[in-house]
Amino acid sequence: MRVTVFSAKPYDRRFLGRAGDGSGHELSYLEPRLSLETSGLAAGAEAVCAFVNDEVNRDVLASLPSQGVRLVALRSAGFNNVDLEAARDQGITVARVPAYSPYAVAEHTVALILTLNRKTHRAYNRVREGNFALDGLLGFDLAGKTAGVVGTGKIGEVVSKILLGFGCTVLAYDPQPNPVCEGMGVRYVPMEELLFSSHIVSLHCPLTPATHHLIGAEALRHMKPGMMLINTSRGAVVDTRAVLRGLKEGIIGSLGLDVYEEEGDLFFEDLSQRFISDDVFARLLTFPNVLITGHQAFFTEEALTNIAETTIANITSFERTGRAVHEVSVERIAREGKPSTGTAA
Ligand code: NAD
Repeated sequence: MRVTVFSAKPYDRRFLGRAGDGSGHELSYLEPRLSLETSGLAAGAEAVCAFVNDEVNRDVLASLPSQGVRLVALRSAGFNNVDLEAARDQGITVARVPAYSPYAVAEHTVALILTLNRKTHRAYNRVREGNFALDGLLGFDLAGKTAGVVGTGKIGEVVSKILLGFGCTVLAYDPQPNPVCEGMGVRYVPMEELLFSSHIVSLHCPLTPATHHLIGAEALRHMKPGMMLINTSRGAVVDTRAVLRGLKEGIIGSLGLDVYEEEGDLFFEDLSQRFISDDVFARLLTFPNVLITGHQAFFTEEALTNIAETTIANITSFERTGRAVHEVSVERIAREGKPSTGTAA
């Protein structure tokens, strides 16, 4: 099958190339993001392969069938960037990667927590400059602290397990409690109680209308002053402007982000020779207690291998049977409920 891979990076070529070896698929890799301006580049392909910041909206989907495209194969589990109703209207199948190493994201989450707490990023620079002073590097013991995990699916479960291992008390909020977490000693509480009691709050829910700006002005009112907020889920789960206010007021004592509401114009690119025109993001960078990574939590050898193999399996199955292995559609959601977003990057 001819497949146009959008937002393709060298590592996509490496992992998809390896997974697709012998499959007979013809993959052409394009650096641009999928958008209405670039969708014409898919001409002649039967499938497009898209990532988290590609725009798979109604207009883009409407432009694809006339070019021969019948499948959108997402290299992610999250599908908040896809208009599923428009895909159905256009007769386009959407497939995704429902699960890959949850450890990748969970371990990165804990890396953010540990770095923000013990300030190893600052210590690294200081020591290289011969500055061995400890002022400003004071952290706290994780043992005995309370961590609040919002969303206890695959990633939240692993995060909970690791934090319990550190000796934290783990509280959770999830409309669908996970029995494995309950078995480990995680206690489900209402969101307000979680915010009120937690020294660390870590977000692991999908981006849906219900979770859009879940952490905003109202949530800040319930937070423990000086708490640590970590978001490795989706940028818009957090209202960044409200969080900026929370940082200035000291309600948020430290902030770790791997995702950002407006990351589509920033992340995955080397912009080091340009200025950042997003004033909110630029302001965030001025805080010493803010640590941002550019949507890299999924970025491990194991996760990329998994993503590539599942993506190729989706394409192969669609070519042979007309059905992808892991389809997502409005009908399916209506029938089975919202599927697990998996460890979507
Ligand atoms: P999952 O589907 O296994 O778990 C999500 C959990 O969130 C479910 O238990 C669900 O019940 C819960 N949930 C749904 N609505 C909620 C709400 N309103 N409040 C609290 N919880 C709610 O997904 P996962 O594999 O654990 O992934 C979680 C999220 O992590 C994904 O949606 C994705 O956005 C994000 N992610 C980010 C990266 C990255 O690289 N930064 C990589 C993978 C996934």
